Amino acid sequence: MSNKKIRVRFAPSPTGPLHIGGVRTALYNYFFAKKHGGDYILRIEDTDSQRFVPGAEEYIIQSLNWMGITFDEGPHAGGKYGPYRQSERKTVYKRYTDQLLTDHRAYIAFDTPEELEAKRAEIPNFQYDASTRLTMRNSLTLSPEETRTLMESGQPYTVRIRIEPGQTVHVQDLIRGEITVNSSIIDDKVLYKSSDGLPTYHLANIVDDHLMEITHVIRGEEWLPSAPLHVILYQYLGWEDTRPAFAHLPLLLKPEGNGKLSKRDGDRLGFPVFPLQWKDPKTGETASGYREAGYLPEALLNFLALLGWNPGDDREILSRDELIDLFTLEKCSKNGAKFDYKKGEWFNHQYIQSKSDEAIADLFLPVLNEKGIRASRNQVVKIAGLIKERIHFTTELWEQSAFFFTAPDAYDEKTVSKRWKEDSPEKMQALISVLETVDDFSASTTETAVMSWIESNGYSVGAIMNAFRLALVGESKGPHIFNITEIIGKEEVIKRLKKAIEVLGNNS
Ligand code: GLU
Repeated sequence: MSNKKIRVRFAPSPTGPLHIGGVRTALYNYFFAKKHGGDYILRIEDTDSQRFVPGAEEYIIQSLNWMGITFDEGPHAGGKYGPYRQSERKTVYKRYTDQLLTDHRAYIAFDTPEELEAKRAEIPNFQYDASTRLTMRNSLTLSPEETRTLMESGQPYTVRIRIEPGQTVHVQDLIRGEITVNSSIIDDKVLYKSSDGLPTYHLANIVDDHLMEITHVIRGEEWLPSAPLHVILYQYLGWEDTRPAFAHLPLLLKPEGNGKLSKRDGDRLGFPVFPLQWKDPKTGETASGYREAGYLPEALLNFLALLGWNPGDDREILSRDELIDLFTLEKCSKNGAKFDYKKGEWFNHQYIQSKSDEAIADLFLPVLNEKGIRASRNQVVKIAGLIKERIHFTTELWEQSAFFFTAPDAYDEKTVSKRWKEDSPEKMQALISVLETVDDFSASTTETAVMSWIESNGYSVGAIMNAFRLALVGESKGPHIFNITEIIGKEEVIKRLKKAIEVLGNNS
């Protein structure tokens, strides 16, 4: 690597919510920049006015912020290479479009969509290139006067790159190695449209990478086919010597079967494909997000980091700093990475376990607050400690612990028929008398008192405990029963026992 300062960019198009694959691309660029003490730039590629979606840019920034990814330069961060939104750089692209025209590396084409459609119908596999361009309506077939008159009359036109056929184009990719392509397969791509005065992705992307002094272009695999065209454009613009290095990341594949991961896979199998919930501004439809599904951002980050890259050994739980330290493009895989969402759930579970009870409580307190439940932080910390090993998502905190805060308003039927016996009311009544004698309601004291009562009467521990749990929780789940009684307290425990006796009676 040369001693130029490393500069990488994440260059999303604001055409909708950022797909999870895009998050991974952003992440790998981030790791690479941080590892090399380089700059990380956000560039918004909004040249396709047809596909522009309001709110998408904000969504992208918010999502990455949630994951702890920030930029050194960008539309919101500023920087001396701006503006960082392509729609604000029209004059820059116009200058290079003109340069390409002057150098005969590009030409003006007037073909209407209908004319192009007719050609496609007439010629199978029609491609606008050296073999066909002289049969089309463009500045190569019209006289300079005709061309000028048409332009001045406001006739819409495009500027197309002039690809020389039969050339061998070499693309050196840091992940895929050398790719060789014959230029004849590349068509004369549109670089600029007069209708909106905007360049296409191909031109804008290259001009900006050059002007923003990008050293490494790390992008998703879907852009690999355009790499040879990009190499040609760098050559035409005279920037070959400063061309950034390319690295095309592997695709994210469906969890099962073949093909690219899609939103439909997520809908079918029940996992989000977007970092945050997204509400489509047009249809009003809502798509689920990892944040709302109860993922911790650090778990999602770790999970995504290992989809297409590995540290070279079998370590899996890696912190952000470790990932930055270990990351290399050489260790990225060429092959697609199966999107094993179950593994994502596993990561989240691991990260929840490794959080302190206090940290879990801090995630949980706002949820309780929203439900109008008042509980001391101290108590919530204790509850967090008791339930965290049972959950995979922070969204499960409530369903796993609701009984600590509110008495059951119903009793699970199956549990009742299995666990509430004819003598249960009488036994629970006796249990109330035992509990009334316990002053210190700590788990251990209560347990000792209840156990010695059971033992001295020769009762079955299971029968007593099952009915007791049913009265407290409403079903047969939850942590150790005396941890529950300690937290909900004597008064409430007795109240719940009385209620169970009253509601369930000896209905068996
Ligand atoms: N705007 C392209 C996208 O939406 C960027 C591709 C690239 O990184 O060059 O993915």
